Amino acid sequence: MKFTVIFLFSFLLLNSCRPPQANDLFQAVLWMQTSPEYQAQCLQTYDQAVKLLPQAVADTGWLAALEQPSCDPTLPPAVILDVDETVLDNSPYEGYLIRNRQEYQTESWERWCQLAQAKPIPGAVEFCRKAEQSGIKVFYVTNRKANLHEATFQNLQKTGFPLSLGMKSILPKTTSSDKSERRRQIAGEYRIIMLIGDNLGDMAGIFTGSAISVRQEALQKYASNFGRCWFILPNPAYGDWDGALFGFDYKLAQEEQRRLKETRLRSF
Ligand SMILES: [Mg+2]
Repeated sequence: MKFTVIFLFSFLLLNSCRPPQANDLFQAVLWMQTSPEYQAQCLQTYDQAVKLLPQAVADTGWLAALEQPSCDPTLPPAVILDVDETVLDNSPYEGYLIRNRQEYQTESWERWCQLAQAKPIPGAVEFCRKAEQSGIKVFYVTNRKANLHEATFQNLQKTGFPLSLGMKSILPKTTSSDKSERRRQIAGEYRIIMLIGDNLGDMAGIFTGSAISVRQEALQKYASNFGRCWFILPNPAYGDWDGALFGFDYKLAQEEQRRLKETRLRSF
């Protein structure tokens, strides 16, 4: 009994002296929510994409998707954008997780998505409208699940994004997070001229769920696509870059994920 009490007391004392563990999302989310530096990066990415639209439309050999190495030059042009952190800003969801000391969970995520209250990412509405006005079909290929299709449609509509094919403008997650199959589907009817996302899987399947070294090699291989037909937006909060740090084993406890992350840290 005495031993238990001493043990418990020591345990409490030790833990009260230890500073609370910082939430991994804290700095990243504040940067995204408050810094003009983040906004400027989004704007410059979309501005560059807008500037290249006329050239991409005119050049029938301008192809963005690896799933479409060649195509019928008469196919109408299309652009594909991801949704989360590409056209819609979900940082209030991350803010909720930080403030309530919670981890990502499907239930809370879907509750946020159902509200359809996400604001647009800077530059995204302007880009999509410009594309639509130039006769380019705009598709949103997302890994949000089918049960969020309607809410996502409402959110995009509310924020002014073109949805000329109605609900069909949005392709939600099927059985796989790999978006290759959905790009292939669009490639059957359209010439895909640009891919825009915050995760490299929004550009090519090789980046989805792959090890850091594989992702780095693929980046080198396709380097010339960036800023031309592939456009990447910053996302320091989450993504495959983060999952790759702990082998995409999302079932691991936070502490273990953190331990694995620390092994990746370079220092002098
Ligand atoms: Mg995304």
